Amino acid sequence: MTDGPTAPRDVVVVGGGVAGLSAAVFTARRGLDTLVVDPGESILRRNAHLENFPGFPLGVNARQLLDLLGEQAENAGADRLDAQATRVAAVDADDARFAVTTDGDDRLRTRHVVAATKNEVGYLDGIDGVGILDRGKAYVDVDERGRTGVDGLYAAGRLAEKPHQAAVCAGHGAEVAVTLLEDDDAPFYHDWVAPEGYFTDRGREVPPGCEEIGEAERREREAASLEAARERFAEPHPDPQETHPSLEE
Ligand SMILES: Cc1cc2nc3c(=O)[nH]c(=O)nc-3n(C[C@H](O)[C@H](O)[C@H](O)COP(=O)(O)OP(=O)(O)OC[C@H]3O[C@@H](n4cnc5c(N)ncnc54)[C@H](O)[C@@H]3O)c2cc1C
Repeated sequence: MTDGPTAPRDVVVVGGGVAGLSAAVFTARRGLDTLVVDPGESILRRNAHLENFPGFPLGVNARQLLDLLGEQAENAGADRLDAQATRVAAVDADDARFAVTTDGDDRLRTRHVVAATKNEVGYLDGIDGVGILDRGKAYVDVDERGRTGVDGLYAAGRLAEKPHQAAVCAGHGAEVAVTLLEDDDAPFYHDWVAPEGYFTDRGREVPPGCEEIGEAERREREAASLEAARERFAEPHPDPQETHPSLEE
C-alpha cells in the first residue's frame, strides 16, 4: 500500500459524475486541496442527448458535458485519479480524519470526504455513524445541506436521494461543497467574479472568495472561453453512448 499522490488532502471526492465534479469545482476554487477518484462510470454516460441541462438550448452530448465538467474541476485546481480501474474500496477514520483506500491500494488521507457515487455505498461500511437508506437501491442519509452523521463526511447528488436529473445533482454537489466550506470556517464564501469597483467603489473590501476584474481582463477571459468552446464543440464527441449493463452482449 502506498501513500497517495499528495497526502493529506483537504477533500477527497469519491465519484466524479456531475455531483462530484461540481463539488470539486467549488472546493478547489476556494483553495482546498481536492482530489476526485472516479472509474468513469457516470450513469449520465448512458444518456442519448441531454436536453434539460441549463445553458444548452438545443441540448448537449452528455459525454461531452462530463468531459467539460472534469476539465473545469482541473482548471479550478482539483486533481483527478480517474484511471479506468480506480475506484474507492474503503473509507475509514484516521488521524487526518479519514483514510481513503482505492482498489489500486493507494491510501489517501483527507480532512473531508464528499461521497457522490449514486447508489454505491459499500466503501462506507467501515465508518460508524453513516446512515444507509435501503429503498431497493441504497442512499446515504443526509441533512438538508448534505451532511452525514459523521463530521467531515458529506454525500451529494443521487446518493443523497436527490431527484434523478443531472442539473439537480450538479446543483446539489455545488451546495454540498459550499456547506463543507462553511463548516470549515471559510469566511463569507460567494465565489463571484465581479466587475472592477463593484465592491471597492462602494468602500467595501473584496469579500474572501470573490474577485474583481477590469474590462481588459474580462475580454481576455471571454476570448479564452470562446476559443475553448469552439475547440471542444468542433466535432461530435468520440465516445459511444453507453447502455444498461443488462443490455450488453
Ligand atoms: C439512460 C439515462 C438517461 C438519462 N437522461 C437524463 C437526461 O436527459 N436529463 C437528466 O437530467 N438526467 C438524465 N439521466 C439521469 C442522470 O444521469 C443522473 O441523475 C445523474 O448523472 C446523477 O448524478 P450523480 O453525480 O449523482 O451520479 P453519476 O453521474 O452516476 O456519478 C456517480 C459517479 O460515481 C462513480 N463511482 C461509483 N462507485 C465508485 C467508487 N467506489 N469509487 C469511486 N467512484 C465511484 C462513478 O464512476 C460515477 O462517475 C439519465 C440517466 C440514464 C440512465
